[in-house]
Amino acid sequence: RAKEDGRNTHRFFQADMGTAVNDRRELITDLRSAVANNELELFFQPQYALDDFRISGFEALVRWNHPRRGMVPPGDFIPIAEDTGLILQVGEWVLNEACRIAAGWPEDLRVAVNLSPRQLRGHAFGPVLVKALSDSGLRADRLELEVTETVLLTDSEEVLEALHQAKSLGVKVSMDDFGTGYSSLSYLRRFPFDKIKIDQSFVRSMAYSEDSISIVKAVIELAKNLDMTTTAEGVETRELLDMLTEIGCTDAQGYYLGRPMPLERVEELICNSQSSLTAAAQ
Ligand code: C2E
Ligand code: MG
Ligand code: MG
Ligand code: MG
Repeated sequence: RAKEDGRNTHRFFQADMGTAVNDRRELITDLRSAVANNELELFFQPQYALDDFRISGFEALVRWNHPRRGMVPPGDFIPIAEDTGLILQVGEWVLNEACRIAAGWPEDLRVAVNLSPRQLRGHAFGPVLVKALSDSGLRADRLELEVTETVLLTDSEEVLEALHQAKSLGVKVSMDDFGTGYSSLSYLRRFPFDKIKIDQSFVRSMAYSEDSISIVKAVIELAKNLDMTTTAEGVETRELLDMLTEIGCTDAQGYYLGRPMPLERVEELICNSQSSLTAAAQ
């Protein structure tokens, strides 16, 4: 299971991080060429609709298949990419690749792409998004952009403009990791998100905390009133899945339902679980 998660070599990577500064410098150098050298790879994690337990889409999660370090998880290089500005190239690659791949899936499956704040600053994002959609031919409403609360923290006018432009194209916008920021509620007022992704920390604690159950219930109710859907993140057990279904959460995602997986596995999963849909689409 560690392998599917792309984390198998991560432990070794951490073990020899003795000279952290040199290491970081080396990572930056390597990351500069990673996009050009085809070392980035997308993994996909399925999301299930809780009304009929069908796959509703996949979240694209980037991995760096480093020639010596092995599979590097995003937590280890996205922050560096953000600091150095390389996130613009990485982010554009992710968006293009996710759209291209999802365009080959059955029509009712969506793809979700994570965005860093920096990608939405300035006025570069609009053209990048338009190009990704037109190059791939992916219908705009099959693409979801996931942004965290930190995205709305800085340069908010530009960011809001970029998000509004995405929505006007028909692209969906989700608030990721809801509940972990400082003022989640005020962000809900500032931008009409299509979806709230309830952070894994809340979902996980539903297993032992009545208060957490109440909070998640309230978030689901709030989302309904604002005409937004909800996706629970980090669903690791059957009990949590049942609870979330019972309280009316729209979708769920987590290790219990499926780990992030390489594209070959996605295609198998789509064929096996939605063969009737695939047949209908042909
Ligand atoms: P995220 O967008 O909140 O993605 C969910 C993370 O939770 C993923 O980690 C996923 O593997 C993990 N996860 C999913 N289900 C479970 C579960 O049941 N239990 C546990 N313990 N974890 C679960 P991953 O792939 O390591 O990604 C971490 C973060 O890196 C993402 O958090 C996202 O913020 C960022 N990221 C990933 N891909 C991209 C990208 O292409 N661009 C940007 N800007 N950020 C990315
Ligand atoms: Mg996400
Ligand atoms: Mg999240
Ligand atoms: Mg997260």
